[in-house]
Amino acid sequence: MGVIPLRTIAHVDMDAFYAAVEILDSPSLAGQPVIIGSRDSPRGVVSTCSYEARRYGVHSAMPVRRALELCPQGVFIPPRHDRYQEVSQALFALLRDFSPLVEPLSIDEAFLDMTGCEHFYSSLEDLGQTIKDAISQRLRLSASIGIAGNKFLAKLGSGLKKPDGLVIIRAEQVDEVLTPLPVDALWGVGAKTTKQLARLGINTVGQLRQVQEEWLVRTFGKMGRQLFLLARGIDERPVECQSEAKSLGAESTFPRDIFDPRALETELLRLAIQVGRRLRQGNFSFRTLTLKARYPDFTTLTRSKTKSSWPRDDWSIFAGARDLLHTLDLTKGFRLLGIYLTGLYPFQQLNLLEEDRGRLTKVVDKLNEKWGRTIIGPARVWEKNNPNE
Ligand SMILES: [Mg+2]
Repeated sequence: MGVIPLRTIAHVDMDAFYAAVEILDSPSLAGQPVIIGSRDSPRGVVSTCSYEARRYGVHSAMPVRRALELCPQGVFIPPRHDRYQEVSQALFALLRDFSPLVEPLSIDEAFLDMTGCEHFYSSLEDLGQTIKDAISQRLRLSASIGIAGNKFLAKLGSGLKKPDGLVIIRAEQVDEVLTPLPVDALWGVGAKTTKQLARLGINTVGQLRQVQEEWLVRTFGKMGRQLFLLARGIDERPVECQSEAKSLGAESTFPRDIFDPRALETELLRLAIQVGRRLRQGNFSFRTLTLKARYPDFTTLTRSKTKSSWPRDDWSIFAGARDLLHTLDLTKGFRLLGIYLTGLYPFQQLNLLEEDRGRLTKVVDKLNEKWGRTIIGPARVWEKNNPNE
């Protein structure tokens, strides 16, 4: 095993998410046993329920028929997945303000790699509370958060004090936290392994630790090694942000062909602002910048430039596109320009210069996002009869 770098991982898990969204949208439901599942399809299952409903023994994945028996006075609500998706998107956008490395686990759950961000906060408690406060202020919903040195422990922590919990598991607390837990608290241990271990007299993580690694590997194969490590709170899995988008871009067909180089550059700047904002919203970096250009006779050309890394601010994207534009024959005029970014990968901050430039960009992005359009940007995008404003 190589040297394990010390990491700070947060696991954020929304409390009774679907039920909480329903209560958010219909505040009169607050305090009632809200059960997400349709009364009209008793063969369906409960997807979530409020903590009030849980007091009656209702839980997720339970058949609706059973929930009706346990809690006949429950408020049964058919799920509104589009709405939950919408709130989920707002949640993930918020989480990406805290770290570029966000790994969604489900619609309402994510890991954040906060390694290196700790010094922005007075303590890990402060870090966790800041995320919780942001969720409560901006989404008016509550979350439980676990913070630890790896994904397994962070997720364990978020589950320990639900709802509205904040649990930090420090290295020196790992033994104390893990020892009394049942073996199925370990990641990947299901009913089958639990039964197998129980037959061997192993019910708790503490008991599991007494067992030699070779014996575990002999008995459980690959899983044995994992059991050995997890029982000691060791988990080296990285936080992985999936990037579905492989490219992003914007293009604009002009109402009239444009010949003036300065006007062409202004159009490029406008496109760079659009593309740049989406790049940063998705927390991507990119390797290849492509300019697409169409002449009045519909001939279409592309010109690309690839670098190992590009700065992510609008101005750098614009400057890259402008340089490519000037490799073309401008005298013929253009009817369309476009900017495409490809070779996308998750953004990781590499140096302080990037951070300084990033701060201004962040403020500008936030203001534009708040107003839902470009209200701050370089003066020239508003110059003379700008057709788009
Ligand atoms: Mg949840």
